[in-house]
Amino acid sequence: MLNIDVLTLFPGIMEGALRESILGRAQTQGHVKINLTNFRDYATDKHRTVDDYPYGGGAGMVLKAEPLYRAVEDIGGVDPHARGRVLLMSPQGVPFSQKLAVELARESRLLFICGHYEGFDERIRTGLVTDEISIGDYVLTGGELPALVMIDAVVRLLPGVLGNDESAQTDSFADGLLEFPQYTRPEVFRGMGIPPVLLSGHHAQIAKWRRQQSLLRTLQRRPELLDTVVLTREDQKLLDDAKRESDNR
Ligand code: SAM
Repeated sequence: MLNIDVLTLFPGIMEGALRESILGRAQTQGHVKINLTNFRDYATDKHRTVDDYPYGGGAGMVLKAEPLYRAVEDIGGVDPHARGRVLLMSPQGVPFSQKLAVELARESRLLFICGHYEGFDERIRTGLVTDEISIGDYVLTGGELPALVMIDAVVRLLPGVLGNDESAQTDSFADGLLEFPQYTRPEVFRGMGIPPVLLSGHHAQIAKWRRQQSLLRTLQRRPELLDTVVLTREDQKLLDDAKRESDNR
């Protein structure tokens, strides 16, 4: 079972999302344990202060090192090697990706630190954190949504969490490519039909069509992803055929 701890000043932002749907079920079925802690509880002064003015002046407040160190050491232990990965949510971090989600899903403990409004005392980065992660090149008010995004992406990869394990395998990015187009009933909707091959019952032809569509969609929408995928000779042929077909249209 994966143990996840989240340090946040606003646990309420996350509670509802973690109770619902697949994330909620993953917890009740014992695939993951998610514990939210308000790190204000680790402030020692009577006003429970977690932030202070920046040295050197300037706008905004800075999260103090002490409450976060105390919280991480209490929850994860004082030995940094035994406490698992400590993930700092930050727009300055490495971009989150499916590859990183797969890597994190293999861990047994993860501890997320969510900032809010302001920056962090740099000593949190240098002495406490193992990974600094961004969910994209934009700035949010807090780390709670990024932590939810990451937890969602990681938990759905845990064995047994998705009803049909295959659905995680064909997802976009699972093999470096975007997913192929999908259709469901009715066969004709408002005059729009579906590719006949999907009705053929011919599994090999369907698999081939899907692979080709994945390659084509990736080429059209995210061509840079193709640089990191090892294409077989068959893939290359499917891609060339698909390109020719779409050029002729
Ligand atoms: N002043 C900080 C900076 O420039 O790096 C930004 C602080 S931001 C307003 C408040 C908090 O939201 C951050 O400490 C971080 O925890 C979280 N956050 C904001 N945008 C994020 C992003 N793109 N990815 C991950 N966390 C983010």
